[in-house]
Amino acid sequence: MLVYIHVPFCRTRCRYCAFHSVPLGKGVDASTSPQVQDYVDTLLLELAHWGDRLGGSEIHSVFWGGGTPSLLPPRIVGTVLERLARVFRLGDKAEITLEANPESLRGGRVLPAFLAAGINRLSVGIQSMDDTTLRLLGRPHKAHDSLHTIFAARESGCANINMDLIWGLPGQGVRQWLQTLKDAVRMSPDHISAYGLTLEPGTPLELDCEEGRLQLPPERDQNIMFTEGAALLESHGYMQYEISNFARMGFQCRHNLGYWEGMDYLGFGPSATSTVQGRRWTNPASQRAWDARIRAGTLGQEVEELDAHTRVLELVMLRLRTARGLRLKAYRELTGRDFLRDHHRIVQALHENGLIRIRGGYLRLTRSGMVVSNSILSNLFERITASLKEGPSLPASPRLSVLLDDEPEIRTVTWPQA
Ligand code: SF4
Repeated sequence: MLVYIHVPFCRTRCRYCAFHSVPLGKGVDASTSPQVQDYVDTLLLELAHWGDRLGGSEIHSVFWGGGTPSLLPPRIVGTVLERLARVFRLGDKAEITLEANPESLRGGRVLPAFLAAGINRLSVGIQSMDDTTLRLLGRPHKAHDSLHTIFAARESGCANINMDLIWGLPGQGVRQWLQTLKDAVRMSPDHISAYGLTLEPGTPLELDCEEGRLQLPPERDQNIMFTEGAALLESHGYMQYEISNFARMGFQCRHNLGYWEGMDYLGFGPSATSTVQGRRWTNPASQRAWDARIRAGTLGQEVEELDAHTRVLELVMLRLRTARGLRLKAYRELTGRDFLRDHHRIVQALHENGLIRIRGGYLRLTRSGMVVSNSILSNLFERITASLKEGPSLPASPRLSVLLDDEPEIRTVTWPQA
């Protein structure tokens, strides 16, 4: 099982942010803030609540996300991890990630204490290496703070560092994005997450774009940022293992991999979502409502049972985001239907256009396919939904046109009997 802990505090509010976070203000010390103390008290109660119900389960990874978890004093992180280890099985090899922002790390002085508390992976919110862009995003740090943070993390002995970056920002050109990536690889992180900007409704950045004060790069430039950026990272040894994620050999994020592979996850903290044994629930976003729910013992009672249709769509969506792709056998096991037979027309068209490949029983998006993944997925979803209404397939036709990766042309092959 995976554990996610949501820490809802940030120093200030970024102009593009739609996450659940509460700005603490510049001068407030999280270690003496009553609001933070209340949060920690409730978090420990929540931990005890799930310990009673799911205690003993093996935890493969713990991800402190937010918000800005690195605002918490390291001793609190240590206490929570100790409690987790007491009620669940938290192995020595578990990946324990802390999301951190450069301005929250006090010049890197708190890093050794976080590592001593049990953190073994640091995910740093860098976003851009250009000070003007950082200001525009409302980030409270500067590019040289990022440099200093990554350097200090290495000096402290952190052996697994991720940098979060964003492309497709207002005013950003292809050259500036590629320069950001070059600056990033010079800092030698083990993992890079490069997300395309999503303009979230109601955020100040969205309003600026909506009212014409800022402009996003043209779509063509955004596509080049994605494809050339990925090629640049791969040329420096960072393999793309998911649409937005790149890692050196052996440094893929185990938490994210578990999530994409459909492992159960238990979410703690306000707004955190959990999915355990086919049931999903989300904690209230407000700290007060979350606290009330826990004290009333009603946490996790409003559940959504994941029906077969939802599970199939999630399987396809999550797996097609990964470089490995969708295992066709897994689709068949879940649906009783044959993906290639059901969707051979669209599969054929996507293959001819170089947007998908099939190899070793997996269907995956090519890099060009990843650029248009949203439209491929929505198209597939409609077709999958229609095909599932027919129930399990009739036995597969013995002869069927399928596409083989090594041979781009369409061949007729003998299809194995169901
Ligand atoms: S640091 Fe992250 S969570 Fe906090 S306001 Fe900025 S984008 Fe949102």
